[in-house]
Amino acid sequence: MRGLSSLLKSNNIYGKWNQLTTKASYCTKPETKQWPRKIVSGIQPTGILHIGNYFGAVQRWVKMQESGENVTFFIADLHSMTMPYEPAKLRENIYELIATLLACGIDSKKSPIFLQSTVPQHAELCWILSCLCTMPRLSQLPQFKEKSAQVRDVWAGLFMYPVLQAADVLIHKATHVPCGEDQLQQLQLASHLAKLFNNRFGETFPVIKPIIGQDASGRIRSLRDPTKKQSKSDPNDKSRITLRDSPDAIRKKIKRAITDFTSEVTYDPTKRPGVANLVGIHALVKNVSPQEICNEAKGLDTGKYKLVLADDLVNLLDPIRLKIEDYLKNRDYLEAVLKDGRDVASQTAETTLKEVKHRVGVNIL
Ligand code: ATP
Ligand code: MG
Repeated sequence: MRGLSSLLKSNNIYGKWNQLTTKASYCTKPETKQWPRKIVSGIQPTGILHIGNYFGAVQRWVKMQESGENVTFFIADLHSMTMPYEPAKLRENIYELIATLLACGIDSKKSPIFLQSTVPQHAELCWILSCLCTMPRLSQLPQFKEKSAQVRDVWAGLFMYPVLQAADVLIHKATHVPCGEDQLQQLQLASHLAKLFNNRFGETFPVIKPIIGQDASGRIRSLRDPTKKQSKSDPNDKSRITLRDSPDAIRKKIKRAITDFTSEVTYDPTKRPGVANLVGIHALVKNVSPQEICNEAKGLDTGKYKLVLADDLVNLLDPIRLKIEDYLKNRDYLEAVLKDGRDVASQTAETTLKEVKHRVGVNIL
């Protein structure tokens, strides 16, 4: 797997970032306030979660929650409207996602989980931030480039998506956001907007820091094309292992995962990305290093090794799949969890929005 710093360099983010911060002279004032650590993170209801979402986000959320961190989670339903979708399917996906988060071990009593659209202050802050954000800055973002290439008509919502993402975390004054590598550029935009806002209107927001897994969890790759990440919205279902796949489906997908012509099991993300992806996933499943996985797999060819990996994945995922099915039988409970989350999140969001409106000069009533 490419390290974070090489990713940053290859995308020339350092250069662009320096350019942006030095050009805007009012954006260079250092942060002065010490903000209490607060973690906010969201996930889109665009389909069934896959192991990339699990290891890259949800499993880490659970660990943070267990270690007593101040965390808030949300289902990013407004974001899932930026690409073509069916309303009935979206509604179903929302139930499925909240059931999945609970089945993965998120405890709604310890921290709020809410539906983004039920806290309208997110969208209001998005508008205010959009009046600080330039169009060239947004059009550079890789996610916009990738997703806009998939549709004939590019909606303005897709273009604005990263500003809403910035609002999602800033409205709750998040200091840290756990996520996969794919979100890095968007989070840099959020930090950029926080700095711009603070320097123009007075210190209001913490400058957000991403928390990205330094192991394989930062970027779990597609089983069909290891140059791409696994994605809920990838049209090829065989590219990902989902948390609702049956044991049989998991075994079939792993068996057909793209590897190469060398039969030995080694961990070399650059030269052998397909095999390294499987070893990386296995290391996360067993909570050991990739090297330990390779040592255990000594003497196995990749075909036989895949059977071992598939069994270990089934052991991890099957209890989660059964719990999701149980939670889905009790929709009233799922709605109650989201309502409780909304009530808590709305209070923080409203306090921030009042402060923001005061600072930007629109709160005369
Ligand atoms: P979509 O294809 O609809 O964008 P997605 O699979 O990319 O779906 P998101 O809802 O956009 O999922 O992202 C939710 C969280 O999961 C984010 O923190 C994101 O960084 C993380 N994530 C997504 N895909 C991966 C992956 N393949 N490896 C590690 N983390 C991932
Ligand atoms: Mg995504």
